[in-house]
Amino acid sequence: MKKVLIVIFTSALAGCAMFQAPDSITKPCDGPVKQVAFVVDDLPGVVLGQHTKSDSTGLKSLRMMNKNMVKAFARHNVQAAGFVVEKQASIVKEETDQRTALLELWLKSGQILGNHTYSHLDFNRTPIETYKTEIINGEQLTAPLLAKHGQKQKYFRFPYNQTGPNDATRNELKTFLSTNGYIIVPYSYGNYDYVYNEAYKTALDSDNKELAMATIREYLDCTAKMIDFEEQACLDYVGHPVKHIFMIHINDINAKCLTDILAMFKNRGYSFISIDEAMTDDAYTPHKEFGGLTPIGWLRKNTQESVPRPSEKITNMCRKKGKRFAKIN
Ligand SMILES: [Zn+2]
Repeated sequence: MKKVLIVIFTSALAGCAMFQAPDSITKPCDGPVKQVAFVVDDLPGVVLGQHTKSDSTGLKSLRMMNKNMVKAFARHNVQAAGFVVEKQASIVKEETDQRTALLELWLKSGQILGNHTYSHLDFNRTPIETYKTEIINGEQLTAPLLAKHGQKQKYFRFPYNQTGPNDATRNELKTFLSTNGYIIVPYSYGNYDYVYNEAYKTALDSDNKELAMATIREYLDCTAKMIDFEEQACLDYVGHPVKHIFMIHINDINAKCLTDILAMFKNRGYSFISIDEAMTDDAYTPHKEFGGLTPIGWLRKNTQESVPRPSEKITNMCRKKGKRFAKIN
């Protein structure tokens, strides 16, 4: 999650017809057993874009994102794990109940919720005692919701995938998380969704529907290429078909495209598994390079040079808005 303005999003494309999927998205399935679990970071979401009078705090937009993504997972019988940044649920005081209700939507649909810290701080730049407090503060709204739905706080993901500045700090936090009943959730790859989302919002904010649709087409095409690329790259690196953990964020472009992304996996012969099942893969075994923590994104790290990427046009659309563009790591 990047630092953003909380604003309104007028869904100019909400009622538009579905676009033509690129050929690469409908590639037929073949080869060995393919499995994938899904993690969604930054619930209940942040809203990029222009303020509008009808949604001055972004609540309507957040409702749309959460409802669409929950619906897409349910339609494909996927149990995803959503990671909560509780500050985003209470950032507009008078909307805390409504924003908390958006988190409960996930639980009502059978999805899992985990902790992504209270305010999404970077562990590499945060004193460990502050970071521990962030983790505990990140449980305040979520823990009662989980209890109500028969779950308990179990899963943790590091914001920005930053696991700490050195081995001693990592080990201390690992012990803290374990003592508090947490499992650190890694991922095998993502799809630059936050970059495409910024470009998509830039197009919408300038009322350029054609550009917004072109951005969606490229996003889906890049995601399709990413799935094929990482499937082979991880197989080559690990030596067996990996139980993938695909990491995305809650945002506008995924609210629009998640159904198509899930269909891509399905059309390629993937079955959808839980995060627990995925983490039985020894590809995620804790590694000394990470101070004994479960590696995060390390499969991708070893294929950084040749991995599919957003086009220059997309990255320029982000830069024009003066927003931060960062690599997935
Ligand atoms: Zn995050």
